Amino acid sequence: MLNDTNKICQVWNQKDALEQTLLAGLHGGPEIKKEEKQAYLGVFREQVIAFLTQDQVKEAALYPEIAEALEHEKFQKLIINSSLAAYYTNKYQTLAREKNKAYTMVADADCARAAGLVVAGSEAVDLQDIAVDDRRLRLQKLGVSEKLIASAGKKICETCLNSILSLDPREAINYSGLTWLDRLTGERCPAHQD
Ligand SMILES: [Zn+2]
Repeated sequence: MLNDTNKICQVWNQKDALEQTLLAGLHGGPEIKKEEKQAYLGVFREQVIAFLTQDQVKEAALYPEIAEALEHEKFQKLIINSSLAAYYTNKYQTLAREKNKAYTMVADADCARAAGLVVAGSEAVDLQDIAVDDRRLRLQKLGVSEKLIASAGKKICETCLNSILSLDPREAINYSGLTWLDRLTGERCPAHQD
C-alpha cells in the first residue's frame, strides 16, 4: 500500500497537472477524489464529456469540440472557470445560450491547475478521451496556413473561407466572410498569403 502511494506521488510530480489528477482519480482515495473534483470544476472525472485547459479557453478561437460536446446525449451542464477573465469566457457563454444549454460559473478554488471549462454529463459517461487536442496543431496537420489559423474570429475572403471549411467544416464557428460592403470600405482578408 505504501509502495502504491509512493508510486502515485512520483507520477504526480512528473506528469502534466490534469493528467496527474486523472491518474490519481483512477486509484481512488478521498483526498485524491477531492482534488479531482477541483480539477474538473466540481464534478468527478467519470462525468466529464470534454474539458479545455485554461490556456485553450484564452485562445481567440472557439473549440468546435466543445460545441459538439454540448450536444452529447448525456450532457448536463457547461462549467466555466470564473477565475478567467470574462473577455475569454464570454464566447463559450454565448455558445451555450445559442444552443439553449445550461452553464454555470465556478470559482477556481485555489487550484491553479483546474480546467478552464468542463462539459459535464448528468451521470458517469466514462469516456476515455476527454482532453481536447490543441487547435493550432490540429489545423497545422490538416495543412491550414498559420495566418488562417490566427485569423479566427475575423472576417476572411471567400477563397480562405472555402479553404478552411473544406479542411475542417466544424471551423465554421470561427470565421465569417467579408461582405461586398466590407470590401468597399477597404477591409482586407487578414488570412491571405501575399
Ligand atoms: Zn483570404
